[in-house]
Amino acid sequence: MYEMGRGQTMTTLFTDIQQFTTWRNEIPKHDTVGFVPTMGALHGGHISLMQRARSECDHVVVSIYVNALQFNSLNDFSKYPRTESVDFELCAQVGVDSVLVPLQSDMFISDSPNLLSPSKEAEAFEGTDRPGHFSGVVTVVDRLFAVVQPTAAYFGLKDYQQVAVIRNMATTLHPRIDIRPCDTMRETDGLAMSSRNRFLTETARASAGLIPLALSTAIAHWRNGCRDASEVTAIARSIFDRDASIELQYLSIVKDGTMDQVEAVSERDSIIAAVVIDGIRLIDNMQFSNA
Ligand code: AMP
Repeated sequence: MYEMGRGQTMTTLFTDIQQFTTWRNEIPKHDTVGFVPTMGALHGGHISLMQRARSECDHVVVSIYVNALQFNSLNDFSKYPRTESVDFELCAQVGVDSVLVPLQSDMFISDSPNLLSPSKEAEAFEGTDRPGHFSGVVTVVDRLFAVVQPTAAYFGLKDYQQVAVIRNMATTLHPRIDIRPCDTMRETDGLAMSSRNRFLTETARASAGLIPLALSTAIAHWRNGCRDASEVTAIARSIFDRDASIELQYLSIVKDGTMDQVEAVSERDSIIAAVVIDGIRLIDNMQFSNA
């Protein structure tokens, strides 16, 4: 356990789930607890979730846990950036009350725990390109929810499909937790902030700027009156086609918070995409009404 003070708030770091539970049990029953689960390497996107939780809840908990279960390759898992002391400092600056950094052995008794099965929302897109990813996500988030017992949990819409899958898991297993989706934070050229952006070479970073351009150009086409999903996605595709280094993994339009593909586009639908540039996989999405 480690503490850092900022103004009125003292931020406590817990690596031991038992000690965290003792802290959690001391929170008065009617106080609200906001929870932001992360894998660390915190950036502006994570900070926006933490700030929203801070403004809406009496207590804020951030977890940092690089979830081995959701990685498809051991290499990807071991390369994932780990910046814990900077992360803790950022949490303290936002006024987070406690940062939970649990050990894998404390999270699960077994090295290969029983995995939860995610809902049908997990099947396509990320589910196809990253087999097993969502069962790892829901297994860990379910465990964290049980430990943290939040009133509300904050998730970024940057991971649109993850929000759909977690919403479903929470409805079934944690109906009292309010899942609050949060807007995507972007760099000045529109690229969605991501822990992976740091791995982009200068050239790949320039190419990555085409992702928000492609999605927003498709949305502009919709604003101009086109409602046909295949025509709208074709506009985005033509922008990706400008750059041979971009490998498009999927590009689709899905209905209002679900993973159901649409033929006629309406304002609450979202355009979603995954690309690989120079070995780095990036995802993004935009809702037609919000872009
Ligand atoms: P991660 O550490 O990648 O597991 O992300 C932790 C949380 O931060 C997830 O709910 C993500 O959706 C969210 N997040 C990641 N990037 C962004 C972003 N650019 N804007 C808003 N939220 C984000």
